[in-house]
Amino acid sequence: MSSDYLHFSDWGITGSGLCCPILIAGPCSAESEDQLHQVAMRLRETGITFLRAGAWKPRTRPGAFEGAGEEALKWLERIREEFGFRCMVEVANAKHVGLALAHKMDAVWIGSRTTVTPFAVQEIADALSGVDIPVFVKNPIHLDLELWIGAIERLRAAGIRRIGAVLRGCGGVAPGKYRNAPCWQLAIDLKQRLPSIPCLCDPSHIAGNTEYILELSQQAINLDFQGLMLEVHPNPNQALSDAKQQLTPEQCNAIIKSLKPRSTEGGDHNYQLKLDQLRLEIDQLDVTLITTLARRMKVSREIGNLKRDNHITVLQASRWERVLAQVIAKGKKVGLDEEFVAEIYNRIHLESIRQQQ
Ligand code: PEP
Ligand code: MN
Repeated sequence: MSSDYLHFSDWGITGSGLCCPILIAGPCSAESEDQLHQVAMRLRETGITFLRAGAWKPRTRPGAFEGAGEEALKWLERIREEFGFRCMVEVANAKHVGLALAHKMDAVWIGSRTTVTPFAVQEIADALSGVDIPVFVKNPIHLDLELWIGAIERLRAAGIRRIGAVLRGCGGVAPGKYRNAPCWQLAIDLKQRLPSIPCLCDPSHIAGNTEYILELSQQAINLDFQGLMLEVHPNPNQALSDAKQQLTPEQCNAIIKSLKPRSTEGGDHNYQLKLDQLRLEIDQLDVTLITTLARRMKVSREIGNLKRDNHITVLQASRWERVLAQVIAKGKKVGLDEEFVAEIYNRIHLESIRQQQ
């Protein structure tokens, strides 16, 4: 839809001028006015675009701290007045939206546990209808591109034009060393489907641990994400939620300063020449890959015919195990990751079986 604003400059927001156009930082939960005051004081020099804080926390188990509610919005209003920060909170229903607007929040975000629920998203979209504030949408908590797109479409249909997507990783996918699997491809697919929606990254909820925030943030910038949402607490050890992943304001400042910006265009003549050569090589290799795959499938079909004529089953598990072990061993010798080879070959095998039927 052409009425979306792609660039943050069109959002009436000047770029941060730092590592990426938009920087959101602040505590997981607003815990007290003093806590917010400390964060604001100690982030003041950094030049962030929005101060974030959760007023209603969707906790997995009951009994944990569930946020200070409307009280937190009053604190944020005063912080905004004193420091001039734009403030944003998470909204999960129409009541939250009503209160966020009543307390003049500058933006809101929809959390990953809410993006999965179309009724809740619709209720939020309806409550925001006619209000022109930026709305950020986290990806659903599990890997589901359509639900993410669906939530954005509901907001668009309600007339909201400043919509940003936020990748916060996914549960239910092997996370490796992180709390959530980054699922970069999910955001790349979203950008292809909705090119006018800027995409931000929330490395805090991907990482689950401050140790990995720098590397994830740089990866996001390298992948052309338009912004970062970082969790920051004046005293992380004592945080009432997500303690391990919250940076101190000083750590946040240091990370933002050390991140290296990337541009999508430009580079000098030598860079362009080298890039063109390498891309040519990739294009040629892709032709080889595709024609080799086609030849492999043709042989598969011949095997299928042979098996059919001799009344033999299509699937022979021991043969498949040998093939997989062989290619993994071969892959290792030439420096290919085992998981990568296994994933590709599982997919090739599925297609081979289909062709043999
Ligand atoms: C949050 O940003 O504090 C939060 C709850 O994030 P998510 O919805 O990504 O879990
Ligand atoms: Mn959090």
